Amino acid sequence: MDEVTTLQGMLPICTNCKDIRDDEGLWKQIEAYISKDSDAELTQGLCPDCTRELYPDLVENFSQD
Ligand SMILES: [Zn+2]
Repeated sequence: MDEVTTLQGMLPICTNCKDIRDDEGLWKQIEAYISKDSDAELTQGLCPDCTRELYPDLVENFSQD
């Protein structure tokens, strides 16, 4: 059950542009990532660029760096 919560086991994939966030927090194209590590599971989400594009109101709430 612990696997579900580990960053290595679940990779967020952007449902809009299909980029994947790796374990360093960097968004990369899916082709580049899958060829390197095909064991990981994917969980759907949105990358920062698409979040900003699709949900501008939402981004305002958590983009406080
Ligand atoms: Zn995206």
